[in-house]
Amino acid sequence: MKLITIRSQILSVVNLWREAYPKGYTDSSGDKHGIYASLCELDLNTASAEDLENIIGNTSWAEPQICDECGERHEETVQLGEDPDYESTTVLVCKKCLKKALKLR
Ligand SMILES: [Zn+2]
Repeated sequence: MKLITIRSQILSVVNLWREAYPKGYTDSSGDKHGIYASLCELDLNTASAEDLENIIGNTSWAEPQICDECGERHEETVQLGEDPDYESTTVLVCKKCLKKALKLR
């Protein structure tokens, strides 16, 4: 269980990028290693989501996440279940939905 925020996504981008595009990775769409080098130059404690977008070219690495319960995007969600992977059992739930869950009788 962990809290997912814009900052937590920014702080993990270098490691996740390296996992997604390891050394020796080749494809024809973009300079993955150049992007990695640029990400490594960022101070992740102060970098913004816009800084990542400018380097990567899209917002998907640091953006409000979709709650698996209400379907809305939220700046903060809680990740429950297994660590995310292609076949993991992982859900993201917003705090509003977590509060509703606690009121269930
Ligand atoms: Zn929700």
